[in-house]
This record gives sequence, C-alpha cells and structure tokens, in this order.
Amino acid sequence: NDIILDVKGLKKHFDVGGDRKLKAVDGITFQVRRGETLGLVGESGCGKSTTGKTLIRLYDPTDGEVIFNGKSTKNLKGKDALKFNRDMQMVFQDPYASLNPRMTVGDIIAEGIDIHKLYSGAKRKERVNELLAAVGLNPEHAGRFPHEFSGGQRQRIGIARALAIEPQFIIADEPISALDVSVQAQVVNLFQNLQKEHGLTYLFIAHDLAMVKHISDRIGVMYLGKMAEITTSAALYADPLHPYTQSLLSAIPIPDPEVERTRERIILQGEVPSPLNPPSGCPFRTRCPHAMQVCAEVMPEMIEAKPDHYVACHLY
Ligand code: SF4
Ligand code: MG
Repeated sequence: NDIILDVKGLKKHFDVGGDRKLKAVDGITFQVRRGETLGLVGESGCGKSTTGKTLIRLYDPTDGEVIFNGKSTKNLKGKDALKFNRDMQMVFQDPYASLNPRMTVGDIIAEGIDIHKLYSGAKRKERVNELLAAVGLNPEHAGRFPHEFSGGQRQRIGIARALAIEPQFIIADEPISALDVSVQAQVVNLFQNLQKEHGLTYLFIAHDLAMVKHISDRIGVMYLGKMAEITTSAALYADPLHPYTQSLLSAIPIPDPEVERTRERIILQGEVPSPLNPPSGCPFRTRCPHAMQVCAEVMPEMIEAKPDHYVACHLY
C-alpha cells in the first residue's frame, strides 16, 4: 500500500513558563496509507488535536519528521508550500467557531478558491453550487450566514470549504463530537461518500472508539502524547493488546443485553495524569491494571507484536 503520510518521532512541546514544558505530543510514529481512514483516538488532552495541527503546519514541530507525498514538510516554501496548503485540509470540531459569522456561506466555501485564485465570476459561483450540492445543501444557501444553519449543516459547510480546493488529505478533528447523535451518522456517511468519490485520505480524530468504528480502516490510540497501539479496526476491536485500548473498548456498551450482562468491565483508576508532570516509564502505568516494576523505569517502545499490529507495552 502506498504511504501518503509518514510521521517519524513527531514531538510538539509547549513552553509554559520557567523551564516547564507541556509535552502535548511526545514522539509519535505512524503512517497513513493513500485512500484510507486512520482513526486517532484518546481522551481529551492526549495530544490528538495538537498532532493534527502540527501535521497541517499550524504548529512547528519540536522534533521529528513529517513526510507528505514523499517530501518533508519542513521548511516548505513558495510553490511547494502553496501545493501543501491545497493538498491537506482540516475540518474542525466546532463548526460554528470555525466559520466567520460575518461572511456568507458562499464566501466561506470559496475562501480557498479565492486565496489560490482558482475561479472567479460565474465559474466561481458554479463551483460553490457544486460544493453545496456535494455536501447535501443547495444553491440558495450560498447567500445566507452561518447562524441560520443547524450544527449538522454548519459542519457540512466546513466540509464543503475543505473540499473546495480539491485536497488529497483531510484531517477531521472531532468533526461529529459537537453534533446531535441523530445527525452524527449522516455526517459520517457524508465523509465516507466523499472519500469514495474523490479518493480522499482521512485522519479522523475522535475521543472514543465507538465514533471511529465505522469509518476507520485502521485506528491509532493515543495516551498522554504517545501512541499506545495502532492496527486495523478489525484487529483493534477483536484483539486489543494495550491495556488502555482494552479499557476503552470495555467502556463501549454492547447492544446485546446478554453479552452486556456477562462481560467484564475494566474500570480505570484515577484520572489522566497532567502532561506537565507525566509518570516515569510507561505513561499509562498509574492507571494500568497490569503495571509491573519495569513499567515505572522504562518507557515501552512501539513494537510489531503481530503482523500490522503495533503496541507500546512491556507485556509484549
Ligand atoms: Fe501497563 Fe506496563 Fe503495559 Fe504500561 S507497559 S500498559 S503499565 S503493562
Ligand atoms: Mg481536541
């Protein structure tokens, strides 16, 4: 499979006064294959959004390397930077905060078209209508303002804006978390249909595994700025290896009441530690039911425990 995004040892640390650092992303390595959806999951504060923003170059990485379409994204300039800005787009969690309330929907969607001077006049209008149709809205919506739309519709506008300049790769940062449960599935369907039609690759960020289950080909699980486990969706659900993944999965209710009644729940102790003061060794050890002596001393490396199934845990 062809690799579109190759992330090697990516770190993003923030200075928080004195010599204290917030290690939001602390050395993660993973690849995204062209045309797939990689789900990225973890509790809030684990570094998912920072990962997305660093990949799309809203933040400069502290360390590590990002290769997109075979090219390092470090120090991109001129034409290469413009091309990158078209090829990778982001859809944000809060579809209201990310849309300028004083711009019409048509102008919001056409922002990238205008920046990159792709179309003007009647062609531009035609393209905006085409994009509105692609996300299930209609041409008369172009002259309206964001506040006139529901949450789900606003997220459709955000998606149309991302699509406008024909990207290859979309980072969707919790795009359905703020939506009513009843519209979440519709927006996920929209993402899936657009992926098929346009051959898009997605990094789909979510805070729980239930949300990414149906859309992801593979899933990465993050904890405190590190990658705990990464494998195919099928393997992750059927055979989770990392104790953190196991606990996340055990928290998802199972529709079958018989299974639900008899299975074992893993209740985690305590809270996620502060990324300002992470535990020594394995970041999960303060909550892990299997923690051993070595876990406090040595940070487990990510290993390929089974084919295409990577885990960072001393049990393997
Ligand atoms: Fe638990 Fe140790 Fe594995 Fe960390 S390395 S997840 S503490 S068993
Ligand atoms: Mg976030």
